[in-house]
Amino acid sequence: MDSPKTALADPKIIDGKDISQAVKGELALAVAEAIKGKTRNPGLAVVLVGDNPASKAYVKSKIAACKAVGIESFLIELPADTAQAVVAEKVKALNLDQKVDGILVQLPLPKQISSAAILALIDPAKDVDGLCAVNAGLLLQGADGLFPCTPLGVMRLLAHHDVALAGKNAVVVGRSHLVGKPLAMMLLQENATVTICHSKTANLPEVCRQADVLVAACGQAEMVKGSWVKPGAVVIDVGINRVESSDGKGRLVGDVAYNEAYEQARLITPVPGGVGPMTVAMLLSNTLKAFNSRIG
Ligand code: NDP
Repeated sequence: MDSPKTALADPKIIDGKDISQAVKGELALAVAEAIKGKTRNPGLAVVLVGDNPASKAYVKSKIAACKAVGIESFLIELPADTAQAVVAEKVKALNLDQKVDGILVQLPLPKQISSAAILALIDPAKDVDGLCAVNAGLLLQGADGLFPCTPLGVMRLLAHHDVALAGKNAVVVGRSHLVGKPLAMMLLQENATVTICHSKTANLPEVCRQADVLVAACGQAEMVKGSWVKPGAVVIDVGINRVESSDGKGRLVGDVAYNEAYEQARLITPVPGGVGPMTVAMLLSNTLKAFNSRIG
């Protein structure tokens, strides 16, 4: 097989673009319902420090997505040499701003600023990225809260395809706070038997072969081979890696060797067009949730 199969009309492919559009359509209706009788729309503040082109592009797409569903956005742009104390003051002001339901600090921050220190300042009720300790703790406890967007997006893809999780073996390759750990907790919440793998895991291919649901979130281009996939497994590829291509422009690949894994899998996400589009949709969903719990 020469190129990744497209999502069009292939029932094996989990089409994140399509599903995210459907989610955004539902959200637009939910926002319209939520603001009835209220004096304002949900609001998302995005703090962008510096001029990293990728970050700027992400922020632009998040703001456009907000507009499309009726969420007001407030962009706070600060120069790359901004001191940590200035960013901290900005976040504290946003915590108090009544028009703001969600605060997103675009990562990575310039090196003079501690991301952990800044994220820790965000009011947990406005932490729409779900990265603060309070929300992480709520997730661990199986309680309600604002949880990280990419894992929420993965769960939504699985639900959309009615993937059974109770009693199934789920293997998550990666243990970051952003993806691996929260996703493992969400899968556990749905009664999967969850194994979390990382760079020190022994016999990784063998562990992956036990998975009914295999999630790759390790940031290693095409690391998960077809031979690591149990026939009939559901494969979710969170990875986004730019690799060289013959035309010199580079191309995006996931953490899974797609064409090989495709042959083994029952369902599989492509890269791009799989998990990626769901992340922004879940950010919007978290912002509406924050709005509803703050003023609902
Ligand atoms: P991190 O770099 O924070 O974490 C990577 C994890 O993978 C770590 O736990 C690491 O283990 C593990 N890992 C690295 N190498 C190996 C290996 N050889 N074998 C087994 N495990 C390994 O990455 P993120 O979680 O932030 O992101 C993961 C991927 O998902 C990246 O490709 C990223 O670009 C992508 N991503 C995509 C998003 C989307 O919207 N689609 C959103 C966020 C991320 P250890 O802890 O031992 O170091």
